Amino acid sequence: MTEEIAHNIYRIGVPLTGNPLKELNSYFIRGKDRDLLIDTGFRNQECFDVLTGELKKLGSDIARRNVLLTHMHADHSGMADLVAGEERKIYISEKDRSYMQNFMRGQMRRWQEDRYTKEGMPHELVLDVFNTNPSRQQAMKSLDSRFTALNDGDHIEVGEYRLEAIYTEGHTPGSMIFYIRDKQIMFTGDHVLFDITPNITIWPYVDDSLGSYLENLQRVRNFDVKLALPGHRKTGDYRGRIDTLSGHHAERLAEALAIVSADPGSCGYDIAGRMKWKIRADSWETFPKVQKWFALGECLSHLDHLIRTGEIKKKAENGIWRYYAV
Ligand SMILES: [Zn+2]
Repeated sequence: MTEEIAHNIYRIGVPLTGNPLKELNSYFIRGKDRDLLIDTGFRNQECFDVLTGELKKLGSDIARRNVLLTHMHADHSGMADLVAGEERKIYISEKDRSYMQNFMRGQMRRWQEDRYTKEGMPHELVLDVFNTNPSRQQAMKSLDSRFTALNDGDHIEVGEYRLEAIYTEGHTPGSMIFYIRDKQIMFTGDHVLFDITPNITIWPYVDDSLGSYLENLQRVRNFDVKLALPGHRKTGDYRGRIDTLSGHHAERLAEALAIVSADPGSCGYDIAGRMKWKIRADSWETFPKVQKWFALGECLSHLDHLIRTGEIKKKAENGIWRYYAV
């Protein structure tokens, strides 16, 4: 389950049972007097047992252990406070730290409830997702004083390695990737995944998260990367994958625009239902509820981008946003 992928860098596969992502890649870097664990898994017993069991096998002492989070999502951050040493640090970007705080205070939920309802998702369904979405149930509940904010260009030293923080807003508002320049190793978080497409959704105070994501794919494309270490599943060709992901979103933008042009006045929820999804369901009606939530978020990030580029516009009609091609 655990493999050494470079000198003193280990990949620990943390199972995400029942989740289409299957596994979280947690990376353990052995240092001299401090070790570093990158991402942790959901806050549940199974993730905890596997992660702490594998760390024990590696001879890792919690008192020496700092934790680094690539982004706020619960499958990455869920156990951060449980696996970091009491006197150590938990690093996360400044921005994701404040979004986590908003999330914990319920501000995010109020914003999402309002936006998803205005995009035509039935209100009962929105409330149902809040109560069943596992990433809400298996998240950290509060931030303690070990949380340390990182900004673009900051460095973390661990043993023979120096990790450079690169800010990549998109997948989350404060998503970061980490580069070991002299070894050409990149921890890509969920910014670049290889056999699944990172989910791009909508966020409060972000007008065009897909636009930011696409810009930040280009921004990091020219780094020389021999070994890409993603947040989930397998590695692959870094630059080639960035091009594929950019192409994928160009196709999805064209698809969303075609739907809006063919059915002017549709709401986001109906447009999402007409887009193609890689999911086993006969129709939008039988689509699993939580997956409908993710699909709508993904669809809206594309609609927001088309508004930004001036290709479509939206109008509120009886409290629901309706989309029109320009
Ligand atoms: Zn994520």
